[in-house]
Amino acid sequence: MFQVSETSIDTQALSQGMVNHSGGAFVSFEGRVRKSNDGKAVARLEYELFPEFCIEEGLRIIDEAKALFPLLEVKAVHRYGLLELGEVAVWVGVVTGHRGAGFQACRFIIDSIKARCPIWKKESYVDGPSDWVGCPSCETKSVSAPQIFSRQTRLLGSDSHEKLKRANVLIVGTGGLGCPLALNLAASGVGNLRLIDSDLLEASNLQRQTLYGYQDIGSPKVLLAKRRLEELHPYVSVEAIHDRLTIKNFDRYLSGIDLVVDASDNFATKYLINDTCVRLEKAFIGASIYQNQGHILAYEPGASACLRCDRPMQSPEGCTETCADAGVLGASTSALGSLEALEAIKILLGQKPKSLSEQIYLDFDTFENFSIPRLRNPDCPFGLDHKTARDFVYEEESLFPSTEFEVDWHDTHGKGSFVWIDIREASEREQSLSHAIHLPLSQWRSEDLLAYEGKTAILYCQSGIRSQKLVAALLREGLPLEVKSLRGGFAGTLNRRC
Ligand SMILES: [Zn+2]
Repeated sequence: MFQVSETSIDTQALSQGMVNHSGGAFVSFEGRVRKSNDGKAVARLEYELFPEFCIEEGLRIIDEAKALFPLLEVKAVHRYGLLELGEVAVWVGVVTGHRGAGFQACRFIIDSIKARCPIWKKESYVDGPSDWVGCPSCETKSVSAPQIFSRQTRLLGSDSHEKLKRANVLIVGTGGLGCPLALNLAASGVGNLRLIDSDLLEASNLQRQTLYGYQDIGSPKVLLAKRRLEELHPYVSVEAIHDRLTIKNFDRYLSGIDLVVDASDNFATKYLINDTCVRLEKAFIGASIYQNQGHILAYEPGASACLRCDRPMQSPEGCTETCADAGVLGASTSALGSLEALEAIKILLGQKPKSLSEQIYLDFDTFENFSIPRLRNPDCPFGLDHKTARDFVYEEESLFPSTEFEVDWHDTHGKGSFVWIDIREASEREQSLSHAIHLPLSQWRSEDLLAYEGKTAILYCQSGIRSQKLVAALLREGLPLEVKSLRGGFAGTLNRRC
């Protein structure tokens, strides 16, 4: 709830209305009219606001707070009109399980209201005329762009800042690659970042995903990234999209974008980025990492080979191990993500980096590197000149292959009883369904399923790939029960509900 009020805020009534026995902490904040500001004696204060815009933005802030923190209840009220000394100007209250999240949420909400809601403050002074004022401690420091970017303009030229400031970059994924990538682009003054990611932060992410902290576990990563980037670099506009990139929404999210940078962790998304960018003639940068080995490539319409020129067919998911399976060092993902940022800056400034014409491989263990020339391939499904890309139509299933033995989470509601089987390894099960049976893939014995004969078993792993492959194999075995794979796995569906 977010409200604006022209009359006194009844803080007692608001506090009493937030009794929730599920929460161990109630934290509130009261901002009051003080008797002096900047050395001048204040007589009274007046707030002006546009109620509709203010409430709309306030509700958006409340929604973001609920997504970022485990809040059981949240309310905020802002006064407007004339206020006397000592009166409450703004009140925020939250109920949470623990005090830490309560303090953080209160601070997030009040800071966001101050920064984003269209509210103006006019102070009347005891000894003089009134004046419209800001909050000195909340205002951005008076630092000019030349001061911030002086070191890079020496290398890139005096017009580089304006070019980067006008740039619009879409970053797909805010994980191990996406964190250093977004951080470096923001710090370099790239003016407009659009981030897309559907995951919630897990404890195992903290070792390499450097925009997040311990207190953030369980929150949507993309919202956390936006908040952190805006804290560090308030001159950058950051748009956060908590969604999974698909063939159905990609065109929309590409609107107004100059450059796409892939920081995803799966082949399907990498090929989706390639195919869509080739079709819509957008530049992109891609990178992948496997243990200590990383590689990076870039694409510009009309200037370079695409991913399908290098590898016409997508490798089946599961044919290589993921970071969860193979392990990875945070310093390596940070290095590769930073290199993506470097290539992005070059392309945004109109340069032609080596990654446009060569696929570059780096070994972060030995520091050996090599590159392979990337040539347009007559076997590319888009043709040698990529001219057929606009006419190339394919089903989403070809990117995210689905099968009749997959099931969506929504389709399981109220439709019979299911046996839920978690096939992830123990180290992956930071969260799970409380009623799921754990049968890890590494110790799989199909006969363990016979105890559930006559029922429908729904198998799930982290992303739905391993369970899909396992179910396909089980169907060939002909077990006396129905087995299905949960589409999207735990990360794509269940972790939002635990
Ligand atoms: Zn191609």
